[in-house]
Amino acid sequence: MPQLFAQVILPLSLHDSFTYKVPASLEKEVAPGKRVIVQFGKKKLYAALVISLSDKNPENMELKEVHEILDEHPIIFPVNFKLWQWLAQYYCCTLGDVFRAALPTGLKLESKSKLFLTGVDEPIDLSPKEELIIRHLQEDVSQLSDIEHKLGTEFSYKALRSLLDKKVVYAEEKISSKYKPKTEAFIKLHSSISSEKILNEKTDLLKRAKKQQQLLFHFCTVTNAFSDDQIQEIPKKELLLGTSFSGNLVKELVKKKILVERQKQVSRLEEETIDQVSINLLNKHQAKAYDEVKTTFEKQQVTLIHGITASGKTEIYIHLIDEIIKSGKQALYLVPEIALTTQIIKRLKNVFGNKVGIYHSKLNSQERVEIWEKVLQFNDDPKKGYQVVLGARSAVFLPFSKLGIIIVDEEHENSFKQFDPAPRYNARDMAVILGYQNNAKVLLGSATPSFESYYNALKGKYGLVNLTTRHSEMELPEILVADIKRAYKRKQMRSFLTPELYEMMVAALEKNEQIILFQNRRGYSPYVECFSCGDIPKCRNCDVSLTYHKYKRRLSCHYCGFSYQLPEKCDNCGSPELKTRGYGTEKIEDELKSLFRNARIARMDLDTTQSKNAFAKIVKNLEDRKTNILIGTQMVTKGLDFEHVSVVGILNADNLINFPDFRAHERAYQLISQVAGRAGRKHKQGKVIIQTSQPDHPLIELIREQNYQATLKEQFEERQLFKYPPYYRLVKIVVKHKNIQTVDRAADQLANQLKKYKQLVVMGPEYPLISRIQLWHHKEIWIKINRKLNLDLVKKEISSAVKTVKHLPSNSSCVFNIDVDPA
Ligand code: ADP
Ligand code: ZN
Ligand code: ZN
Repeated sequence: MPQLFAQVILPLSLHDSFTYKVPASLEKEVAPGKRVIVQFGKKKLYAALVISLSDKNPENMELKEVHEILDEHPIIFPVNFKLWQWLAQYYCCTLGDVFRAALPTGLKLESKSKLFLTGVDEPIDLSPKEELIIRHLQEDVSQLSDIEHKLGTEFSYKALRSLLDKKVVYAEEKISSKYKPKTEAFIKLHSSISSEKILNEKTDLLKRAKKQQQLLFHFCTVTNAFSDDQIQEIPKKELLLGTSFSGNLVKELVKKKILVERQKQVSRLEEETIDQVSINLLNKHQAKAYDEVKTTFEKQQVTLIHGITASGKTEIYIHLIDEIIKSGKQALYLVPEIALTTQIIKRLKNVFGNKVGIYHSKLNSQERVEIWEKVLQFNDDPKKGYQVVLGARSAVFLPFSKLGIIIVDEEHENSFKQFDPAPRYNARDMAVILGYQNNAKVLLGSATPSFESYYNALKGKYGLVNLTTRHSEMELPEILVADIKRAYKRKQMRSFLTPELYEMMVAALEKNEQIILFQNRRGYSPYVECFSCGDIPKCRNCDVSLTYHKYKRRLSCHYCGFSYQLPEKCDNCGSPELKTRGYGTEKIEDELKSLFRNARIARMDLDTTQSKNAFAKIVKNLEDRKTNILIGTQMVTKGLDFEHVSVVGILNADNLINFPDFRAHERAYQLISQVAGRAGRKHKQGKVIIQTSQPDHPLIELIREQNYQATLKEQFEERQLFKYPPYYRLVKIVVKHKNIQTVDRAADQLANQLKKYKQLVVMGPEYPLISRIQLWHHKEIWIKINRKLNLDLVKKEISSAVKTVKHLPSNSSCVFNIDVDPA
């Protein structure tokens, strides 16, 4: 047989792929989609993914060999890999970047992965190499690279893989996420009892301990001991269920070396069994919209459903998923926010039971691996695998094999976009590609569609379906505007509340109705100011003012995360009078407590939702009406569904409207009407108050009228005029370096290089709003690309310009980030 070569992807952003020789001994086992261990660089081993095999040496040079093969079965399917390729090309990154984004840590095994013991009892059948890894981890948590280094040639990836499979070890990116495996006691026969005869002898010995003897009989009966369908091991709980035997009795038998008890890790994914309820009937408007969606799907791959808040889009999704499930295919349901998964998962599980999995970044690595495997498993064993996945953006990478539909809920949300690191992808756009590649239908849904999607619908590229009535037949909330400036002048403000909002809140609380307040700043106060000289403390590493967090009594930088002791006096003039300025969510929570003494107040922002179940708790308390007022950042604006919220307050619309970005008006419209949509969903029309100092701003007027079409029209004219999406495509390049002169020079060089391509509109270089982050200076170049141009070609030109400039010796330490379709 000729020499076999494997093309593999490494988890590095250097290149797309590398070639290795496959030794004869591994030829049978190796296959695309499996992971292999290869050496790259000086003695460094990596888990790489095989993408193809060939008997030609494409590089005609001396090649290294594949060390080991990690997987028995491929961990991705060829069709999944097609998405990777599309992604790398479209977003101008390498397959290595995609590899890192796509696989959960537990499958990536990067040298920086931290390894831990899960705490389950060691299985008896460990190989010496597995033992060695365990001994090592017993002493300490280690990075994979440390263990590799310390154990040298004794280290085996295969052994590690096996330990991961047996769930003795797990891998995590960060140590911070505390992981406690869920374990359960299991009982089996002692290994010395290898035949029925020995068992009978042991039973005889128990003549004087009747109860123990009975327990042993019971054990043998329930496990069918020594028969063909013997159950090796049984959960202790199950063994004792409905009997009068005690745990102590088990202990006695364990002491006598007849039974063995051990803690075994059980999957966290097995939820309590849920009583499946039947699916809700669609109301007549929904039924009509559902039929329309189906009709558009006959001709179109992608359809946009523009349905007002609480019109029951989710119900329509559920009906579509139900149909897909019955046809034996899989469904992917994407949501922009983890908080939403806690509400929607309930609705999905009610209907689809254990066919549904959930996938997002708050799960730990091991949980993510388990879900990955269950999605993979669907191909071989549809009964056991997941047929429906509800997830945040990274769920697009799951190994689907029979995808039938993809739902993108709140498709306008920019949390579908990954900012950093590469690939800077938008999961909504990937969903569309995923649909084409898998011949699956894609439904984008929103009450305030992104202008890009709406444009595509208007152009006939997507189907368009409208849903304009709320399920409850309730009117959309009434939107009122309160003038902050006037209220300040007249000294009518109560802390941050205008009299209008305050009175409305009082009235709602009296009726035991709930209130949601939105403020897009977290922390206590957005900045601190010296009373004497006006100096504002800034981050040492970034070009931003520091936010005061009261509960930590510290100033912290929201860009690099660095936190500082609250200074006792001004750095500039020495005055001790430092004043906190502005309102962050934390301060609002504080002041609400003194304004509404009897109300129960909760806060939903980045600081209160660190732990995995934090979202779920906040949501549940609101559902159970244990919370009267919820204050939060963007998180509260996205698709949450509460029955009894009657008042919504937007505490300050000014910074939304005035944000210097071409999308500011689109965003402000979306954000405000979305958060407004949380009010009055079921029982009576809700009320919304927008506090602003520009009550006459034309956008405020449009929002008040809930006039999406007019907002769209006005913005489309502007976008066309100034060459912005959806009329033009955008690529942003960020040049970064610690030295500002280097950034300036490199950015100029790049702009000049790009300007050589006459058809590109090159803007900048310019410093962004925040021009220094973590000591790195930033400069941006924006490229506007006419939609008529061949985008692939243009991107090749852009990439090659970047390469040329990057390879100038003076720029070797510069970073160039290409961001296609920046948010
Ligand atoms: P949207 O996703 O459009 O914001 P939802 O699907 O969340 O709206 O619907 C709003 C509320 O109305 C939810 O609590 C939902 O359970 C209820 N609802 C909507 N349609 C129906 C229906 N056909 N039958 C029963 N309840 C419905
Ligand atoms: Zn000062
Ligand atoms: Zn900083």
